[in-house]
Amino acid sequence: MTDSNLHNDVTDVLKRPLSDLRISVTDRCNFRCSYCMPAEIFGPDFPFLEQSKLLSFEEICRLITLCVPLGVRKIRITGGEPLLRPNLDRLIGMVGEIEGISDIAVTTNGSLLPGLAHKLRKAGLKRISVSLDSLNNERFGLMNGRGFPVQKVLDGIEAAADAGMKIKVNMVVRKGVNDQDVVPMAEYFYEKGHVLRFIEYMDVGNANGWRLDQVVPSQEIVDAIHRIRPLEPVHANYYGEVATRYRYIGSDKEIGLISSVTQAFCSTCTRARVSAEGKLYTCLFASKGHDLRSHLRSEMSDAQLSSHIAGFWQSRDDKYSEERLKEMPQRDNRKEEMFRMGG
Ligand code: SAM
Ligand code: SF4
Ligand code: SF4
Repeated sequence: MTDSNLHNDVTDVLKRPLSDLRISVTDRCNFRCSYCMPAEIFGPDFPFLEQSKLLSFEEICRLITLCVPLGVRKIRITGGEPLLRPNLDRLIGMVGEIEGISDIAVTTNGSLLPGLAHKLRKAGLKRISVSLDSLNNERFGLMNGRGFPVQKVLDGIEAAADAGMKIKVNMVVRKGVNDQDVVPMAEYFYEKGHVLRFIEYMDVGNANGWRLDQVVPSQEIVDAIHRIRPLEPVHANYYGEVATRYRYIGSDKEIGLISSVTQAFCSTCTRARVSAEGKLYTCLFASKGHDLRSHLRSEMSDAQLSSHIAGFWQSRDDKYSEERLKEMPQRDNRKEEMFRMGG
């Protein structure tokens, strides 16, 4: 894997480059998190995508390869639950071979990590984000909609650490649901030495019945932790960094905050998403994706496909979260679900 200086980078209408691609490898999940795939809606008969509709690993790698000259350097594999996709380690190995890609990461609920962490590391995966919303079994079981125990996710985190991966833990905070878990989570992962990132509950999709009064503003989280263990702000590492970071004073340990609701970061958003069925989305809150799968499965040449993707990015003017700050946007009824688009 090399970080070569390739040209022809594209920018969108608001002059934002395309540098990150988040790729969903499945729309299926073994959890039913209330804020993402509520169990009442995504029941046993829910029609998830058939295998033939998913992009193959070869198709995914062709897309990534075509996106490198447009500016893409970072790849995140996500879902649904990406570890449910058979042979994910093979995809990691294939992406690692693509010239120009300098970073590959996976976002997972951690449930299958105990069995897969070493395989993924061996395939070249160095970074993983594991989602965990509470250390309290009852609350976590309710939030994941499956009664899945905390300890099994902690075992997954342990397995990834043991395999030599760098770990970030993601916690979605919902007022009245798990806000009492913020400080215990911060203390636990301070001791463990893994970066914990707090994500403001977002109005992704339509299924979760999002309400603004269920959002805990990041500043409240910083204040609550600061009272127990003092924090100081850390400057952004690079253009487009999503998380605001704080360091525990007198240490090199950090937390991060992803404040899509109270501190929108659209002006530096460099991410595109590709759903498991091959639709390209230029915003997490988009209502419509651009079908790439039919082009990948047609006679379209690499040059044609690449200029197609460049065109979508160049016409991008999304800034949903900034608009949300001013007034609730009117697009709510048509947003794509996050598990489908890739979180
Ligand atoms: N299944 C994997 C997981 O949960 O880590 C990957 C996909 S999931 C859609 C990606 C991330 O989105 C997770 O960290 C999850 O907590 C977060 N997420 C899902 N719905 C959300 C919401 N409504 N607000 C904020 N974050 C959300
Ligand atoms: Fe599954 Fe992740 Fe969505 Fe939870 S957040 S339901 S683990 S895709
Ligand atoms: Fe990027 Fe859309 Fe989120 Fe803004 S709302 S930061 S444009 S994904």
